[in-house]
Formats: sequence, structure tokens, C-alpha cells
Amino acid sequence: LRTCWLNGTYIAEEQAHVSIFDRGLLFGDGVYEVAAVFNGQLLDADRHLVRLARSQREIGLPAAYDAATLMGVMQELATRNGIQEGLVYLQVTRGAAERDFPFPAQVHPTVFAYARPKKLSDDPNAAGVRVHAVPDLRWQRCDIKSTSMLAQVLAKQAAREAGAFEALMHEDGLVTEGGSSNIWIVRDGIAYTRPTSHDILAGITRDVIFDVADDAGVTVVQRAFTLEQALAADECLMTSATSFVLPITRIDDHVVGSGAPGPLTQRLREGYLARAARLTA
Ligand code: PMP
Repeated sequence: LRTCWLNGTYIAEEQAHVSIFDRGLLFGDGVYEVAAVFNGQLLDADRHLVRLARSQREIGLPAAYDAATLMGVMQELATRNGIQEGLVYLQVTRGAAERDFPFPAQVHPTVFAYARPKKLSDDPNAAGVRVHAVPDLRWQRCDIKSTSMLAQVLAKQAAREAGAFEALMHEDGLVTEGGSSNIWIVRDGIAYTRPTSHDILAGITRDVIFDVADDAGVTVVQRAFTLEQALAADECLMTSATSFVLPITRIDDHVVGSGAPGPLTQRLREGYLARAARLTA
């Protein structure tokens, strides 16, 4: 039986219910985080909780629980559900109120979290995945990790229908990011990823990769690149908390580089895994 946590209480998932008037449901008025569990322990949960606090600040939703409490809850969910490798999902919405677009006078946030197992160290996708290029149809505050994600739902459905693992979104000719990942390319031994702005989510994994790359002697440049540059790259890769580092070996029907996971991508994935092992030893 799976246990989740809802507004301060551990409860069986099938017993956990929220109101039809929850603003998360009515307006997508909420924010969320997903952190990895590795060796039964949370990975970089502190950083995820800092980003959650920022997302809440940006949408004017005060914190209902402090970071230490949420950290304890996330770890407890991993433990109670016997998760060795997997993820913890945490969501905060502006709660239930009579349906009206502006904030309610009295906000009672809905806060919940659940855990799931997922293969992270032995991911078959490490052999390389295909992405499907789609126009980025999102709003202008993609730096906020909002639960309003209709554009990503449609992008990732289009990717699935195209036989791809992830969507590769682009705007004005430039790659923004993946449907739920950051995108990188490698050209002549240098790794490029788009600088943070309101146009993309500042991925925690993306951030950690800067350190991993540094340790591996890989130069990283934060610079936007075009879809054409991605097609012509030596290597292409994606990063996210629950996929770590995955080689992108195909962009639609185009083969990237040799068509096999590139050497630099592999170094970054191995470096990331080694760091995860070290932090959770
Ligand atoms: N961009 C988007 C749009 C995402 O949803 C995610 C997944 N949270 C990422 C990037 C990667 O971020 P992180 O490394 O923090 O998982």
C-alpha cells in the first residue's frame, strides 16, 4: 500500500482527496518539484526546495511548511514506500476557494507529496533516445515551475506519437528546452546549454552538471543554439532530476553525430552518477 502526505498527514494514496474547487485543478494555480531518490536517499532536495520557495514567491503563495519539514516528509515517503531508486513529487497549490481568478482572501494551500520507484542508475535510455522537435507554445515565465503545463502535455504527446522519448522545444529558431528537461549540445569538445532566463526552467541537474563538467575537465558555455546547430552537433544530451544525463541520438529522423552516445555525454553521465553515489553513500 502506497503512502502519500497531504496537508500534514501521512495517508494511503487512495484515501487522499482534494476539493473540486482546488485552484490547482481549476486554474493550474500551483507549483511543484520532483527530486530523485538514490540509494534510498534524497538527491539535492535542498536545492529543489530552494527552487520551490522561489516559485512560490514568484506567484505570491506563502510557504505553508518550512524547508526542513518538507525535506523530512520527502525522505520519510521514500523510506515508507521502500524506494531505493526513484523520485518524490511535491506540489503546492493555492488551495480550495470559490472559483474566482484573483487570490482568495483566505488562502489555505494544498500541499502534498508522493514517492515512486524509477530506474535511475541502470536506465536503458542511456543507450540514447530520440527527441521530437516542436514549437515552444508556452507562456513567458517558464522559469516558474508551475503546474500549468498544457503546452508540455501537448508537446510530449506529439513526441510520443512520433515515437520519441522527449519533446525538443524551439522558439524563434532557438532551442529553448525539453518538455521536462534541459537540452545541451556538444561541438568541438565544448558543451553548450541555453543561459537561464524567463524562457526556461533553471534545472537543478543542469546546475549540478556545471560542477560535474568542471571535475571532468569539460568546458561548458552558456549560449543559446539553433535547431540547425543541434542537428549539426557532435553530441546532444538532455538533463533532468529523474533522468540524470541521457544521450539524444536522434532528432526526429536525423541522426546526431555517430548515432551512438557521445564520449562527452558519457563522461557527464558517469560523473553525475558517481557524484550521486558519493552523496548517498
Ligand atoms: N525544464 C523543464 C521544463 C522541466 O520540467 C524540467 C524537469 N523539472 C527540467 C527542465 C529539468 O529540471 P531539473 O533538472 O531540476 O529536473
